[in-house]
Amino acid sequence: MKLVFATNNLNKLKEVQEMLTNSIEILSLKDINCFDEVDETELTLEGNSKLKANYITKNFNYNCFADDTGLEVESLNGEPGVYSARYAGEPFNAENNMRKLLTELKGKENRKAQFRTAVCLNIDGKQYVFEGICKGEILKEKQGETGFGYDPIFKPEGYDQSFAEMSADEKNKISHRGLAIQKLITFLSNYKS
Ligand code: IMP
Repeated sequence: MKLVFATNNLNKLKEVQEMLTNSIEILSLKDINCFDEVDETELTLEGNSKLKANYITKNFNYNCFADDTGLEVESLNGEPGVYSARYAGEPFNAENNMRKLLTELKGKENRKAQFRTAVCLNIDGKQYVFEGICKGEILKEKQGETGFGYDPIFKPEGYDQSFAEMSADEKNKISHRGLAIQKLITFLSNYKS
């Protein structure tokens, strides 16, 4: 079975390819000659994941899946959520986003947060959405060097290290995206067209 993963992020592609069995071939956007940017205009993670998957299915006629992730902070009413990548405005980058979040949380006791990923799968005319959640808290300062985004200031529940102090393998086992992709893989492993 051929399935397009609607992402330009090569790390994500590799991660998913490594988790899948041989019967499923993952195609990148480049593999199908798609060089279009789909604007994430929806107000929810689910909405954006559907938007991206639907764009590929409609315009390229492939079975396809797409993901969208946000960091939801309890004392900020779920912010930055769907705006996580653009939280501090332009230029969009992780340093500015983390600085803004640490400033917003200054003096707040409650630092609980969760990463949430929605994965939308379009397959044979049907649509399925899988969710992965990783609960944790926002640290008072950055810890660790690996990973990306908010990793240095996010400590998952039950761990002493931030995401940025974990190996990719360790993080994938417990992360929001890892869990959502695992649900997708379980579904595909049992899928009969
Ligand atoms: P995307 O939907 O995977 O592109 O994620 C949107 C934004 O959420 C990214 O630009 C990051 O700022 C943040 N983000 C998503 N996943 C992670 C993660 O695993 N660690 C840290 N930040 C993340």
